[in-house]
Amino acid sequence: MLEEIKGTNKIDEYKKVLEQKNSEINAFISDVFVEGNKEGPYYGIPFAVKDNMNIEGTKTTCASKILKNYNSVYTATVVKKLLEKGFSVIGKTNLDEFAMGSSNEYSAFGPVKNPVDLERVPGGSSGGSAAAVAADMVPFSLGSDTGGSVRQPASFCGVVGYKPSYGILSRYGLTAFASSLDQIGVFSKNVKDVALITDIMKGKDEKDSTTIDFNKSLLENINDEKLEGKKFVVPKFVYNKNADKKIIEHFDKIISMLKSKGAIVDVVDLKELEYSISVYYIVATSEASSNLSRFDGARYGSRTDAEGLTEMYQKTRDDGFGIEVKRRIMMGTFNLSSAYYDAYFSKASKVRKIIEKKMDEILKDYDSFILPTVPVLPPKLNEKLTPLDYYMMDLFTIPANLAGLPAISVPAGKIDNLPFGFQFVGKRFEDQKMLAIANSFE
Ligand code: GLN
Repeated sequence: MLEEIKGTNKIDEYKKVLEQKNSEINAFISDVFVEGNKEGPYYGIPFAVKDNMNIEGTKTTCASKILKNYNSVYTATVVKKLLEKGFSVIGKTNLDEFAMGSSNEYSAFGPVKNPVDLERVPGGSSGGSAAAVAADMVPFSLGSDTGGSVRQPASFCGVVGYKPSYGILSRYGLTAFASSLDQIGVFSKNVKDVALITDIMKGKDEKDSTTIDFNKSLLENINDEKLEGKKFVVPKFVYNKNADKKIIEHFDKIISMLKSKGAIVDVVDLKELEYSISVYYIVATSEASSNLSRFDGARYGSRTDAEGLTEMYQKTRDDGFGIEVKRRIMMGTFNLSSAYYDAYFSKASKVRKIIEKKMDEILKDYDSFILPTVPVLPPKLNEKLTPLDYYMMDLFTIPANLAGLPAISVPAGKIDNLPFGFQFVGKRFEDQKMLAIANSFE
């Protein structure tokens, strides 16, 4: 735990592990070193940053060919706050290009291997950050979670992954994918550390107008909750969609354990939430198509020269973007086009509101939702699943993003020697309580 190593210099120790293991795991895209404030209380503790966050003077590639030579000119607010407290960055981690994906196989820098089983994917899109913690290359790392990209790889790699309520952490310096869903999150091996790190990073930032003042400490009363008497709700679709049978059996065993400790668990039919995947892939692709328009070879992005301006844009984007990013830009452009805006984006935004309202309403009667983090076990590398197979895997993580609620994946045993992640989705801005419950569950 971080409090236990505070005051010692662990940088070389971790760097050594990183150097030994990275050639196989490929969790790091670059091993830049950005030293933290020597006077800070956490000087000597290293961490890793997903390579879609800017750190001045380092490359930020978003695992895309189009940004392979991009040098950051400023530092993301959350990283800046950690550096001020003394933490040092020892590398930028691999991801699915522009954070679009669930397996890390869409990186222009090659896939990451899951440290638990090298033949399997680590999950995505923050697969490098999850693998870096799982393989002890760093004690904690930062990722981003737009539709599950912190919690899903945390589940696959057997570590803790936490996405705070939307607005607690500044997105300034995070390369935007779908701004209304994007939220920075933390990986670690325990709940206390993600609380500690988020306490340091949180708060109002004038450079991100969606941030809120959030003064409550997440760590302070983390030992104060008991499972006894807690009320949990499981959305019924966990059982009637195509989740792996072994996942459901394991999940049910955990529910029995929770009940034996005095918790109340109800299964509730939440039809509205079943539209989450459709809504997400309309909203996220639409916002992405707009956000990624800046990568055109003129404003941002490695330019591919051509005769005219339009040809230059076309060639640059054709050469620079990978297959999944292109697919999303095309879907998003279609959704936002004047002929289809009402039928798709506008409708999806309305359904999103309904989902958000429903989740808030249910949480008036319960302490948190509980779900498996992912409906399947980590697939093998090169299993050649279709994009739709991967999209469907996001059903259990996406609702928290659509509603902006806090959510955490905690390792809870293994199935066939592969990690299983158990997920809590708490009330808006009641991250403290959700973390304390997750801590008592751990
Ligand atoms: N798997 C989801 C997607 O591909 C989530 C991505 C994310 O959270 N960044 O969009």
